[in-house]
Amino acid sequence: MANRPYEICNNCIMDTTDSLIQFDETGRCEYCNNYYNNILPHWHPDAIGEAELSKQIDRIKADGVGKDFDCLIGLSGGVDSSYLTYIAVEKFGLRPLLYHVDAGWNSQEAVNNIEKLVDGLDLDLFTEVVNWPEMRDLQLAFFKAGVPHLDTPQDHAFFAGLYNFAAKNKVKYILTGANYSTECVREPLEWHYHASDLAQLKDIHSKFGSRPLKSFPLAGILKFKLFYRFVKGVRVVKPLNSIPYFKEAAMQELVDRFGWQRYPHKHYESRFTRFYEGYWLREKFGYDKRRAHFSSLILTGQLTRDDALQKISSAPYSAEQVRQDFEYIATKLGIEVSELEAMLKAPNKTYKDYKNIMPIMDLGARLLRLLGLQRAIIR
Ligand SMILES: [Zn+2]
Repeated sequence: MANRPYEICNNCIMDTTDSLIQFDETGRCEYCNNYYNNILPHWHPDAIGEAELSKQIDRIKADGVGKDFDCLIGLSGGVDSSYLTYIAVEKFGLRPLLYHVDAGWNSQEAVNNIEKLVDGLDLDLFTEVVNWPEMRDLQLAFFKAGVPHLDTPQDHAFFAGLYNFAAKNKVKYILTGANYSTECVREPLEWHYHASDLAQLKDIHSKFGSRPLKSFPLAGILKFKLFYRFVKGVRVVKPLNSIPYFKEAAMQELVDRFGWQRYPHKHYESRFTRFYEGYWLREKFGYDKRRAHFSSLILTGQLTRDDALQKISSAPYSAEQVRQDFEYIATKLGIEVSELEAMLKAPNKTYKDYKNIMPIMDLGARLLRLLGLQRAIIR
């Protein structure tokens, strides 16, 4: 695949930096075709979706009678979870408990946004602070492993923390901000491997880590997908797919209503993610996640292809900011800047270089697709 000639989709901006991408005879990529054939026909951000959602909301309310809260929302401070929290309370009349995992990398915008929503909507917030020495050890292990998916420790803590909390506290409903509107083009696995692969996380940590993970939130994919769902009865609801959801308008509504703060790009509410997606991944691997994010917005009519091409031609943040973040990240990880630079230049690895449960995941994904439960391409 290394010698493959460069090609870019003529409808979105996904290209051969996804080494396995396929194009049809008209020059359109598989993400586009999947969107038009498999997602769009089943996606109802309209009266149909709202009718379904309102049935779900009635059930959540009925099950929550007499309880302190009726559902759980994981709040990052980013636009999707913030907007979800706002409409859950003000439009649906739900009584969520907010849950936040502080993995040590919150940006000032994230902290502000969480505070503004909690105060503005008068909600309770449970914050789980990840043990920093453990987080640092695991994060450093992923850097040393040379893999692209450096966001796994943080993402794993978010999801595992949320689900473990839900199961422990007998929460029946988790509302998530997952949505087709801004995420219908999923990043390929070579850019963004499953954060829920516990076998991979443990293998990398056992090879490159130096202290045991005693309190770090952990949960494997089987626990997520099967045990919690079918044994513990935790249900996941994605309301943003059942209403019109446009990123720009949603952010403006949050700004006007709560004094919410914008941040430069999707996921940049975490200082680590900004550095990792905005610099490290592009520099070391040539992967630019904005390509998938912008392509989602193109397909859902929120950005023109020309504007996306224009935006992606420039670096997401300045050389000066990169330098500052380089120093900040190295210091926080307890290493020298020169050590971090050496890791940037070290050989690139993939998830395939470590233990992984892709064979099981492939089977599961195929099954979910067959049942019509999984519509985005994951490969
Ligand atoms: Zn495309």
